[in-house]
Amino acid sequence: MALDAEAVVKELRSTYTSGKTKTFEWRVSQLKAILKITANHEKDIVKALRSDLNKPEHETFVHEIAAVSSECDFALKELRGWMKPEKAKTTMTTYPSSAEIHSEPLGVVLNISTWNYPFLLSLQPVVGAIAAGNAVVLKPSELAPATSALLSKLLSQYMDTSAVRVVEGAVPETTALLDQKWDKIFYTGNGKVGRVIAAAAAKHLTPLVLELGGKCPAIVDSNINLKVAVRRIISGKWGCNSGQTCVSPDYIITTKAFSAQLVDGLTSELKKFYGKDPMQSNDFSSIINSRHFDRLTSLLDDEKVSGKVVFGGQRDKSNLKIVPTIVLNPPDDSLIMNDEIFGPLLPIITVNKVEDGIGKINAKEKPLAAYLFTNDKKLQKEFIRDVSAGSMAINETTLQIAEHSMPFGGVGESGFGAYHGKFSFEAFSHKKAVLTRSFAGDVEARYPPYSPGKLQFL
Ligand code: NAD
Repeated sequence: MALDAEAVVKELRSTYTSGKTKTFEWRVSQLKAILKITANHEKDIVKALRSDLNKPEHETFVHEIAAVSSECDFALKELRGWMKPEKAKTTMTTYPSSAEIHSEPLGVVLNISTWNYPFLLSLQPVVGAIAAGNAVVLKPSELAPATSALLSKLLSQYMDTSAVRVVEGAVPETTALLDQKWDKIFYTGNGKVGRVIAAAAAKHLTPLVLELGGKCPAIVDSNINLKVAVRRIISGKWGCNSGQTCVSPDYIITTKAFSAQLVDGLTSELKKFYGKDPMQSNDFSSIINSRHFDRLTSLLDDEKVSGKVVFGGQRDKSNLKIVPTIVLNPPDDSLIMNDEIFGPLLPIITVNKVEDGIGKINAKEKPLAAYLFTNDKKLQKEFIRDVSAGSMAINETTLQIAEHSMPFGGVGESGFGAYHGKFSFEAFSHKKAVLTRSFAGDVEARYPPYSPGKLQFL
């Protein structure tokens, strides 16, 4: 059946206008419905993710199912507090008065999601939209069709479909949705499409959050616990959906003197994790589709990169697998050092002094995440001060996004706006300033006819 986007928005708007979604009880009931989906359908979710990405069950459980339920649990625990008006200070200007900031829902919002964490990245913004009291349309990615179909089925089975709706489809359906007037658009994906979304939003002056990507660097110093560092790099790269993760380390910067030790450390742990023949391992995801497979292999087959693969490189198009691959010192003008990799290839580039890494990072667009492995406190401080990135982790990769207390979002080319925990609630709320006065304390000097004498009283 053809999508009637106008009718969908009209129906949701009528529910929103009724006031139903604004109540604490409705928000709680819908958050609990998402929790039920995660509790009752673990096997279905694992199966869908195997089908879309060959994602290992362990990763689906930790990164998708548990992450969604933990976001819901946190919102349920904090919701009353988030909804409470905040007291604000007043001054003589408004005396006597009281001031409050009320968080009100925005209305009917749209979440356009991506394929790499198709369950998590579809539902995590929905949790925020619901917690804030909005009606919401979710448009999952067509590139993860099994998860998209499952989300459509389960949300219509468990949730209030008069206010929460899944619209499946690709560019035509998204375009039809974008023609409508929304109260907020939340988009996760690449920056090229991000610009299409921003242009559509501008037509209706719709505010938006753009969760985009980029090349996330990791500087690795020599004064580290090498074993722990390489395990954490491997976990954030190949253990996160084969590097098809927006905050995975995209490339590493280390010193010329330390690079051989780093490569040895990485390869010896990779062999332990994925065996002598990683192609046989079931513990890393496949590439999402043949277009992305060809994109990734073309980065490796670039003549500027040939001869520089120091580990891995094997690929099998029949099952869309590329093994963990390390490339040492590709030139700055190679494709692999300019395009976002978003896959299992890890270039390592070398500098004379580890501090030079900061300049290398700053020569590129601002990344979604940046990492530093060092015990040098001074370098840690400089890195935090001098590198602009959506988020950072020191001596760790990717885990900064697991804390509900911290915002997750980009800066510059990696996007704008943020979510997770209370930041999600705020992303889907308007902070309304409310000043309340009685009829006492009316100052004559405020009103015409004006005179120089009246200014003395103001
Ligand atoms: P994708 O191809 O699934 O596209 C994302 C969404 O945009 C889909 O729902 C798709 O239907 C829609 N879309 C695609 N083309 C469109 C068009 N012309 N008009 C309207 N809608 C359109 O995902 P992708 O872009 O390949 O995702 C990968 C990118 O997303 C990477 O750059 C990655 O870094 C980034 N990403 C960012 C985050 C984050 O939280 N910041 C998370 C995951 C991925």
